[in-house]
Amino acid sequence: MPHDLTLRAIRPVTHNVNELTFDRPEGYDFTPGQATDLALDRDDWRDEKRPFTFTSLPGAEHLQFTIKSYPSHNGVTEQIGQMQAGDGVIIEDPWGAIEDRGPGTFIAGGAGLTPFLSILRARQAEHGTLDGYRLIFSNSEEKDIILREELERMPGLALDLVLSDEDVGARTTARSTANTSKARASTLAEHSTCAARPRWKRASPPRCRRSG
Ligand SMILES: Cc1cc2nc3c(=O)[nH]c(=O)nc-3n(C[C@H](O)[C@H](O)[C@H](O)COP(=O)(O)OP(=O)(O)OC[C@H]3O[C@@H](n4cnc5c(N)ncnc54)[C@H](O)[C@@H]3O)c2cc1C
Repeated sequence: MPHDLTLRAIRPVTHNVNELTFDRPEGYDFTPGQATDLALDRDDWRDEKRPFTFTSLPGAEHLQFTIKSYPSHNGVTEQIGQMQAGDGVIIEDPWGAIEDRGPGTFIAGGAGLTPFLSILRARQAEHGTLDGYRLIFSNSEEKDIILREELERMPGLALDLVLSDEDVGARTTARSTANTSKARASTLAEHSTCAARPRWKRASPPRCRRSG
């Protein structure tokens, strides 16, 4: 069932990712990790539905999305990056099977963070701590890390930041360690997982075999 939403606020969280806050329709519920199909409420765009994950808390007054724009696609996300307060979108009912099943390790890359962001925020709000939760978050470069400060501040979360295309060396390693003992710069090598030439820390990645 379609729901009309009005954009209340848009705020950049990286150079190409925005946080968008909308009015919440009465009775619209979702569980952390779920997504919905969203279209711009504009001529020629209403049939262009794209999936996006809710990043607000389930009980919050507003609905929020965290959306990366790809201007090279000339598609919906390019338009979303240019939205202004008062603009409208249409969303469908929530869907998706990603859910919080308790402590464990999440592995996310880029905008693939959003279902885990939603789950971690909700868990923190409900339990006060993320003890037992680990997030391995891979990005191309340091500037691509979405909501880094919030992630580093999450109580109890073991955060491993991985960069594939940038060598930030001791500067970032030192800062992460200094700011929070939870946030450790590391490579996926530590976790026996393949990464695209991780260079965050001087460690050799395991030999990787391409699949698919
Ligand atoms: C369940 C789910 C949840 C998601 N949640 C989020 C979220 O919370 N936040 C988020 O940021 N993203 C999320 N995504 C990803 C998001 O749906 C896509 O980024 C979005 O659909 C891209 O839409 P678009 O119209 O900009 O581009 P597309 O639909 O990818 O492409 C539009 C046009 O560009 C062309 N094109 C495609 N790729 C390229 C390319 N590399 N170069 C040039 N042209 C290209 C296509 O052929 C097409 O004609 C989610 C995806 C799924 C499946």
